[in-house]
Amino acid sequence: MTTSLPTPQTPYQPQPRFDLLHAPLVGRVLRWRWGRLLFQAPLFLLLALIVYDGLTGPQLAPENIATVSAWIHYRGLVILALLFFGNLFCMSCPFTLPRTLAVRLSDRGRRWPRVLRQKWLAIALLFLLFFLYEWLDLWASPWLTAWLAVGYFVGAFVLEALFAESPFCKYLCPLGSFNFVASTASPFQITTRSQDICRTCVGKECVNGSKSVLGCGTELFVPQVQSNLDCVFCLDCARACPHDNVALAARPILHELRSDVWPHRWDVGFLIVLWAAASLSNAFGMTPPVYQLQAGLAIALPFLTGGLGLLLIFGVLNLLLPGSLTLVASWLSRSFAGRNESLRASFSRFIPALIPLGFGMWLAHYGFHFATGALTIIPVLQNFALDHGVRLLGATPNWMLGPILPSRWLLPLEMVFMLVGLAAGLFILNERSRPLQLSDGRYLAALLPWVALLVLFTLTGVYLLTLPMEMRGTVGFGH
Ligand code: SF4
Ligand code: SF4
Repeated sequence: MTTSLPTPQTPYQPQPRFDLLHAPLVGRVLRWRWGRLLFQAPLFLLLALIVYDGLTGPQLAPENIATVSAWIHYRGLVILALLFFGNLFCMSCPFTLPRTLAVRLSDRGRRWPRVLRQKWLAIALLFLLFFLYEWLDLWASPWLTAWLAVGYFVGAFVLEALFAESPFCKYLCPLGSFNFVASTASPFQITTRSQDICRTCVGKECVNGSKSVLGCGTELFVPQVQSNLDCVFCLDCARACPHDNVALAARPILHELRSDVWPHRWDVGFLIVLWAAASLSNAFGMTPPVYQLQAGLAIALPFLTGGLGLLLIFGVLNLLLPGSLTLVASWLSRSFAGRNESLRASFSRFIPALIPLGFGMWLAHYGFHFATGALTIIPVLQNFALDHGVRLLGATPNWMLGPILPSRWLLPLEMVFMLVGLAAGLFILNERSRPLQLSDGRYLAALLPWVALLVLFTLTGVYLLTLPMEMRGTVGFGH
């Protein structure tokens, strides 16, 4: 299907200062027609191993490839990739590997229903994943982890075959939604090398595709891309552009979060609220107080059985409380600034300041598990090979392998992540208040509710990180 698009009249984006797509060697590989396959194929093999070992291997989490790779390595590596590069996992996503096959096998003419072209379903599914992870102890069940991977694969294939606009990636996938939000703080972004070339481009193949190459699955139009939201870094646009005019450009630190480039939509804002709040609640779910809270709830509200107590806790911590606090902060900020604007405008202005704090907390939490358990994959793979009659790396599995950093480094590192997140959040508040051109008094008053919120977030995160945390994938409690 060809998408009708306007000819860009004004330069939407700055010129790239460093373009990874045109860097020596790496650029050629990335732009190569089968370049994405190089990243997807290893993850596809890993996915096959996860499913196989998850269904047939040992059902002890620290000994199974499914649980160790999904819940220790994937999460740790994905957050590091988002910090230093961008949406590397979506670029390498094995679930979309059969995309071309799905597209060719179907007419794929249907549009995703207009009413669903928002982030509300993504919010619901991201919340559901966080809840199921805790309720079903997914981290402890290789079998469930394997079925989760199978469900993902089937869901992505069917939706890709049925609908245009890759609705699975854009509107549903919880992992993709997590990555979209985090990648707004990442240092690379798709852009053009020259806006002038786009103005005279007839086919707009970056989004429409050509006979041999598919265009952008999530229907982003490169000359208008200003954000990493919805960009899966697949680089199909670069391969489709006949003028070699697509760049994967380095951008100034926090550029996207400082700029007003997102649509002022409630769904986008609440996706960020959930993403940031879940960084706290996800850590809280692994600490002793959550068990005390659950026990207290079971006594006070005995009818909340079968996970309903946990659902209530997660609903309050991920949606109700952070949603209310951010709305109150938006309302107070608007009142103190003396501005006659909608609550949504005030909410959308400052909500990006939550992202560095959420990033700091996710990095501290996932980084902690990765730093304490990264080497567990070695004995797990040795054990898998032994079970299939192969001696890998010669020796018998050494189950004591795990940490890659001394444990005494972890808490100070976590505190650094939290403080850098807070500093970056305050910086974004300041930058995003500039266009308001407020007097000094009103400026301070307008920022005060948000500063209080960011400080509260940081203190909560610091407190949680100092609690003993279940190791999940190794044994015992951390710190
Ligand atoms: S196909 Fe290339 S030149 Fe044409 S609009 Fe897209 S990025 Fe610009
Ligand atoms: S703009 Fe579209 S085609 Fe290009 S990398 Fe992003 S998602 Fe892929």
